[in-house]
Amino acid sequence: MTSVTTSPLRVAVIGAGPSGFYATDALLKGREDVSIDLIDRLPTPYGLVRYGVAPDHQKIKSVTKLYERTCGDPRVRFLGNVDFGRDLSHEDVRRHYHAVVYAVGAPSDRNLGIPGEDRAACLSATEFVAWYNGHPDYVGLDVPLDATSVVVVGMGNVAVDVARVLAKSVDELATTDMADYAIEHLRTSKVTDVYMLGRRGPAEAKFTTKELRELGELDNADIVVRADELEVSDASLKAIEGDATAQKNLEVLREMAAKPLEGKPRRLHIRFCVSPKEVLGDDRIAGVVLERNRLEPTESGYIQSVGTGELETLDAQLLLRSVGYRGTPLPGVPFDPRKNVIPNDHGRVLDAPGGQQVVGEYVAGWIKRGPTGVIGTNKADAMETVASLLEDDLPALDPAAAAPEAIDALLAERGVRPFGFDQWLALDRHELDAGKASGRPRVKVTDVEAMLKVGSSG
Ligand code: NAP
Repeated sequence: MTSVTTSPLRVAVIGAGPSGFYATDALLKGREDVSIDLIDRLPTPYGLVRYGVAPDHQKIKSVTKLYERTCGDPRVRFLGNVDFGRDLSHEDVRRHYHAVVYAVGAPSDRNLGIPGEDRAACLSATEFVAWYNGHPDYVGLDVPLDATSVVVVGMGNVAVDVARVLAKSVDELATTDMADYAIEHLRTSKVTDVYMLGRRGPAEAKFTTKELRELGELDNADIVVRADELEVSDASLKAIEGDATAQKNLEVLREMAAKPLEGKPRRLHIRFCVSPKEVLGDDRIAGVVLERNRLEPTESGYIQSVGTGELETLDAQLLLRSVGYRGTPLPGVPFDPRKNVIPNDHGRVLDAPGGQQVVGEYVAGWIKRGPTGVIGTNKADAMETVASLLEDDLPALDPAAAAPEAIDALLAERGVRPFGFDQWLALDRHELDAGKASGRPRVKVTDVEAMLKVGSSG
């Protein structure tokens, strides 16, 4: 049990996405006398549930009802519109809270490391997803949808989301909560062919079967899978022994390869064992050079891709890399640049990988374990972190600094206007009402100043 001389235990949770909410919930359940400030740099809570989950996957977003309940607990304050690192420093949180939990996710993306990928028409899925979901930082992204062929690099669920959004008709998307400007821009789309590219084979694909199946059932696009790219070696089969998802994926891909084309307006191609080697063109993309790969098991049994030198050029004008999110360092907080996570032991922050514990600092979610797993994975992850926190001896605080009013005063002094949960609920109502009026789940406000205005007038 914590040896804290002032009560209640004051905790700052930085980041109000799923892992931040699950950490908050675990703290509420684990300790009666706790007082939590859930801090986010945006006025809106819910992180990737709002800005990452695909707009045509509304059901997944209903998890926010649980998060709403968490924020309804009088022991929790939501402080939106407060940027850790800019509005509140590492020293500030150490002075005002017994413990801090970093739950900031993995906001950046990985590069391919190939020539030409710095061209304007090479975007990351992270940017494209944030753009169509109305993330205020990405409203102005230039997405060249005059492209007829688009390459999506990667075989994970994000690549599937991005490929599906590009393949669907705008009428299917116009009934979702996709940002208005994105719907309007997608209305002008000239895309006819979307190519998902996997560097490894069908047995190594990372997507889940439900998401794969959905690609085969699109009204607006035929699915194209080459039978010759579905051959699976004994080593690959051995590697997926007992992996029901990978085996089911293979079955579904074989069904897709056998399915005749129906002449739908668009085609979604799923290609395996190819890697982009170079993006051709000047300002605009004039094609993507692909290298065919063969697969080789390593000593550990991992199936790796090895280039064969055999090249082909795919005629494409837009490239989206969907090869994984990437964590970035927080000012004043240890960081492992190899794994792009905050080094930790069961959620306890360490001063370096394998190093000493930094007392009073914890980490949860993607910035703890890397960008893997579905929303629910973060629950067990956050519970582990909070169990560590509640076990530890935490330093005593100056009682005046520990009072919630001290943080309020500090932010006011700096001219920061925290956006409270009641203000979010007013903004939420506004968006839901606008959605009702137009037959959509919600119409998102995508500008921070407008959010602050709606929240304050609600
Ligand atoms: P992911 O599942 O890790 O997939 C990343 C993909 O990028 C893999 O196919 C990987 O191939 C490929 N890749 C990595 N580096 C590459 C390179 N240099 N060249 C070519 N390909 C490369 O990541 P994600 O799709 O970003 O998803 C992140 C997490 O969110 C996942 O756990 C995912 O399931 C979850 N998510 C879930 C849903 C849903 O449930 N509907 C929706 C979206 C996201 P290798 O396997 O060869 O490394």
